[in-house]
Amino acid sequence: MKIEYRVISEYLEVDVEQLRPKGSYKKLIDKRSYPIDKLISEFGEIPKDYLRLRNCPNCNSNNFKKELNKDHLDIVKCNNCDLVYTNPIFDEEHYLEIYKAAEYQEVVRDLGEKSHEYRVKRFGRERVKAIERYLTNKNSDVSLLDVGCSTGFFVEAANELKWDAKGIDLNPSAIDFGQSRGLNLEQVELSKLSSKNKYDVITLYDVLEHLVDPSDIIKQVRERLTNYGLISMYVPKYDSASRVLMGKDAHFIWPSHHLTYFTIKTISDFLQKRSFEILEIKTEGLDIFDYIWWQENINEQNTEVIQKISNNLQFFINAGGYGKNLRLIAKKKD
Ligand SMILES: [Zn+2]
Repeated sequence: MKIEYRVISEYLEVDVEQLRPKGSYKKLIDKRSYPIDKLISEFGEIPKDYLRLRNCPNCNSNNFKKELNKDHLDIVKCNNCDLVYTNPIFDEEHYLEIYKAAEYQEVVRDLGEKSHEYRVKRFGRERVKAIERYLTNKNSDVSLLDVGCSTGFFVEAANELKWDAKGIDLNPSAIDFGQSRGLNLEQVELSKLSSKNKYDVITLYDVLEHLVDPSDIIKQVRERLTNYGLISMYVPKYDSASRVLMGKDAHFIWPSHHLTYFTIKTISDFLQKRSFEILEIKTEGLDIFDYIWWQENINEQNTEVIQKISNNLQFFINAGGYGKNLRLIAKKKD
């Protein structure tokens, strides 16, 4: 799968101030390893019985080599298929506790609710447009399920086109917020939705990397798609500019929350193996903005020169395939 050539005039700027309302990003970075910090202060390390080894989430091999260590957790690379993943991970019980923690809820609320309207306009509509390109029947009602919908900003954008859009998420405050805006959101796991209800499009934005078993969710998605139904997803890109520029300080390297790290090659293998045909693959990110934030706030460097050309630099990164998010649209095969 080749990356399409892109023209700079199509670049959509991101207003980072609106996306990350004052102080919310600093809070996220400060609190990112809170569950682990607590354990370290109590036990001096993560107790072994909190952790469990996992096989490669793509090929099930248990043959791996260490890539790096961050926040007291190892990230490894599969010797068989090159997929990068956190190993060992917290066992299910402790993993769920990380998400239930008040600190995480607060961070999500701060980032998600305050920027909801901006996200509808800037990202929701962009996603709808990207999917529309591949719909075979644009006239009929499109049924869409957004898995991990957060506050429902994408569902809100899909509603603007009269799509029949539903969102699910496990975060109660995000669901409450979206429902209060009249959106069809439900706090439920995908596995609890009947597989008799089929959707033309199922989306998974920033979801796969959080899951212990990404293969299982893809299977569940397949069962709930119509014939030739589409999936659209974003996942962090392991070999991105963020990591080239910041090493393991790159913000997306977050082993307590991000359990799998894809590249163009490994996500393509992963989906093809599970009977999806990839229609489009792109990278897009905030690599330069994260780099500026890091230089200013962590390294106390002046970033004036880079700031002036940040949008151009980010475009070059995206177009070159080094943006920190992989964006991909794929079609269910028979
Ligand atoms: Zn593997």
